[in-house]
Amino acid sequence: MKRQDSKICAVCNRPMTWRRKWAKSWDEVKYCSEACRRNKKSPEKALGNKSDGN
Ligand SMILES: [Zn+2]
Repeated sequence: MKRQDSKICAVCNRPMTWRRKWAKSWDEVKYCSEACRRNKKSPEKALGNKSDGN
């Protein structure tokens, strides 16, 4: 797999560079900052995935 060292923020569309604090979660990083994370374009609460059973 080829490693990406830059991504585009899903909210502000700015390129963001790999950061050490993202080393473990780089694959999941979609926003450049907490502010953008809150500003994500999703009026619906799609984040709360209900887990069936356990
Ligand atoms: Zn952003």
